[in-house]
Amino acid sequence: MTITATPLERLQDALPDADWIVDVSRVARLSQDFAWYSPVLKRQLADKRADIAVRPRTEDEIRGVVAACAKEGIPITVRGSGTGNYGQCIPLRGGLVLDLSAYNGFGWVRGGVGRAQAGIRLAAFDDEARPHGWELRWLPSTFRSATLGGLFGGGFGGAGSITYGPLAAPGNVLGLRVMTVEPEPRVLELRGAEAMLLHHTYGTNGIVLELEVALAPATPWTECIALFDAGDAGYAAALECASALAAAPGISKKEVCFLGAPVPDYLAPLAEWLPTGCHALLLSIAPQSEAPVQAMVAAHGGRIGYRRNADEVRAGKKTLLEYTWNHTTLHAMKLDPTLTYLQTGFDPARHVEQVKALERALGGEVLMHLEFLRTKDGALTCSGLQLVRFSTEERLEQIMQIHRAHGVHVNNPHVYIVEDGKQGRLNPGVVEMKRRLDPQGLLNPGKLRGWEQASQAQPLAA
Ligand SMILES: Cc1cc2nc3c(=O)[nH]c(=O)nc-3n(C[C@H](O)[C@H](O)[C@H](O)COP(=O)(O)OP(=O)(O)OC[C@H]3O[C@@H](n4cnc5c(N)ncnc54)[C@H](O)[C@@H]3O)c2cc1C
Repeated sequence: MTITATPLERLQDALPDADWIVDVSRVARLSQDFAWYSPVLKRQLADKRADIAVRPRTEDEIRGVVAACAKEGIPITVRGSGTGNYGQCIPLRGGLVLDLSAYNGFGWVRGGVGRAQAGIRLAAFDDEARPHGWELRWLPSTFRSATLGGLFGGGFGGAGSITYGPLAAPGNVLGLRVMTVEPEPRVLELRGAEAMLLHHTYGTNGIVLELEVALAPATPWTECIALFDAGDAGYAAALECASALAAAPGISKKEVCFLGAPVPDYLAPLAEWLPTGCHALLLSIAPQSEAPVQAMVAAHGGRIGYRRNADEVRAGKKTLLEYTWNHTTLHAMKLDPTLTYLQTGFDPARHVEQVKALERALGGEVLMHLEFLRTKDGALTCSGLQLVRFSTEERLEQIMQIHRAHGVHVNNPHVYIVEDGKQGRLNPGVVEMKRRLDPQGLLNPGKLRGWEQASQAQPLAA
């Protein structure tokens, strides 16, 4: 090593055998996620990127990289697969991308609990668990590419949340193994509520190495599309049917997704099953629930226009899940790149009325896409991933304000600060955890306002 070596050169010298990525275009790619869904974030984050990336394969390699970064004061942004939506793994202050996608070993399944390394893809985890009679409780529509650590660090839930709620519901995530960011990194096991202080914090307060999660009984899910006629009456019928199906305690389901016209028209690969102008429900249900679902759909004036059993879904490599959640947005933006989206939470006591009122207020400009689910506390409701015909940032803000005025929560997807996406609410324990696990403030700096404010009030570095 020469005395003129830069911090980045010393970092590579410390671990010559690690899988370093220095090629500018590859580093730029690894500095991106799906922030481009938002015209606001696209503008704000366009020039943000890391200086270098590394793809460690073992805990020892991760420890070596983290120790060297802590000694040199180099920022670290942890990355799974980069399918996050709000610039979660876009480094604001350069430094290193710690790509954990090769740290992906499956651990074990024991009586309804599974454990794996953070970089495992969710589909791979599910494939490992199924022969034991279990499956993941939630599959985001990105399950083929997204990692377990990334879902925990930046995700919410997905198909399955209709039964088990979001990841944040107590009992879903049981524990984790985490590495501190210090010149001598420590590895800790955190359980229960303490572990959840690292959930949805965008990798700002700890590097999660392993996760232990509760599982659901493996089920051969059947996928169906329920169709409802174009027009206001069909819209109301489809919405009420979705809510009734979601609430029906005897019907086992993994997914109930409502798409009000014209959203189905944007799902081009499903066009042969979605008549122009229809309203549609995308459903994933247990085989024994198929007949009662058909009856409920018929009672609401709809019909089943598409059906595949689990074997057909697997053989056809096409699952309706990849048309739900934020995949709906992706398909729509492929056809119309001027669209953007919202993330909203409706009131369990009056969600159907709120949806109807917002459709009356904003229909045509805001296109309704709802995911039915249970809240963290178990109440049944729906969450909106509405498509928005974007005009200006001011109008986008007004649209969110109109939702709030109707009593609908907005989890703003057009901001990159952890607190701003949660309407300003954050458990103070999150910042306290960062003080414990990342005392130098090197993890994804600039994203956790509570930490930035505390650091300005008094220097926090050890
Ligand atoms: C088309 C599309 C559909 C989507 N559908 C859903 C959905 O159904 N449900 C849902 O919840 N989300 C959804 N998302 C968001 C995203 O897919 C999920 O959040 C996903 O699980 C993220 O996984 P990832 O591996 O890509 O994480 P990344 O994007 O790589 O990381 C997400 C955040 O977690 C942090 N992180 C990653 N690994 C670790 C770790 N080991 N330790 C600490 N922090 C870490 C990162 O720093 C980053 O801040 C969707 C996104 C897209 C683009």
